[in-house]
Amino acid sequence: FSIDASDSDSGRVRVAIRLRPKNAEDLACDSDFIDCVELQPELKRLKLKKNNWSSDSYRFDEVLTETASQRRVYEAVAKPVVESVLNGYNGTVMAYGQTGTGKTYTVGQLGKEDPSERGIMVRALEDILADASPGLDTVRITYLQLYLESIQDLLAPEKTNIPITEDPKTGEVFLPGATMVEIRNLDQFLELLQIGEANRHAANTKLNTESSRSHAILMVHIQRSSKHKEENQVSLPAISVNSEFSSRNVPVLLKSKLLIVDLAGSERVDKSGSEGHMLEEAKFINLSLTSLGKCINALAENSPHIPTRDSKLTRLLRDSFGGTARTSLIVTVGPSARHYSETSSTIMFGQRAM
Ligand code: ADP
Ligand code: MG
Repeated sequence: FSIDASDSDSGRVRVAIRLRPKNAEDLACDSDFIDCVELQPELKRLKLKKNNWSSDSYRFDEVLTETASQRRVYEAVAKPVVESVLNGYNGTVMAYGQTGTGKTYTVGQLGKEDPSERGIMVRALEDILADASPGLDTVRITYLQLYLESIQDLLAPEKTNIPITEDPKTGEVFLPGATMVEIRNLDQFLELLQIGEANRHAANTKLNTESSRSHAILMVHIQRSSKHKEENQVSLPAISVNSEFSSRNVPVLLKSKLLIVDLAGSERVDKSGSEGHMLEEAKFINLSLTSLGKCINALAENSPHIPTRDSKLTRLLRDSFGGTARTSLIVTVGPSARHYSETSSTIMFGQRAM
């Protein structure tokens, strides 16, 4: 797999689909359990069965069955993005799907008891830390929740309504005031993720909302210093900077950013029965996901204009997808025909990117 950003993959969104194994609820209605998804991983194809007579067939860049391990998923979906980020490019990995289909398991699972269960966030940091040279490179994280078009700091939950700004020259996106913590080892990162998760839960309990309605965004900021030049002969990509200094006063050669996003549930919010706060919520949740869909569509069509201004989510992603950035989308679905229409619309979202 080439990591040269000039290859055909940069600027395009790679889309994988992952099927969640049957759960207790699926099995409980077992006599009338009907599978509506059939995977053909070697053909990178998914068949969605409407009924016994008709089905639709869809192609993806990667088809991950219900037995695919977390490692396999990481390697197929996230590792190429992480490698590209280590070479100085920005990148994004996102999970999209109906609540309960495995977005958080895929992206955010800590795997404290069983490291084989670790999700993409932990595996990405593991690879990044293994590649970074202590004393030369810095790895820092920001962990945010986006809910109702408002950004909250999950590492300092008293910070709400964090603004998004942009460097007019470079287009680089900043979040003034958001906490950035330097990561020195994986245990420290696991602890921060857990704190962030607890804060997310607490914030949602207080607001009486569901975490399935919010987006969780992990940003990993990487700065590599100039000594690497002699060591590795790193060539300079477009977004490198050399006028900055790392926290250790070594000139920064490469600066890049990885975003890992656990998106809000893709299920339709029932607008008809919603009023007041709930209606606001319905409107805003749809805004971010709808706007993301439009951007992904525009990228797939090679449009010169990617409409990133319409929502906070896409403004945050602005410098981390399209252009030289590498983007992976993993869409998650469940097997049961009971959720046929949500599964179908999730698949269609993924197809729009291809
Ligand atoms: P979401 O974040 O999309 O709402 P979760 O990640 O919370 O969904 O998954 C719902 C439940 O299913 C969790 O208990 C999770 O551990 C389990 N689960 C999801 N995907 C898998 C998988 N591939 N293998 C085993 N368990 C899974
Ligand atoms: Mg979740």
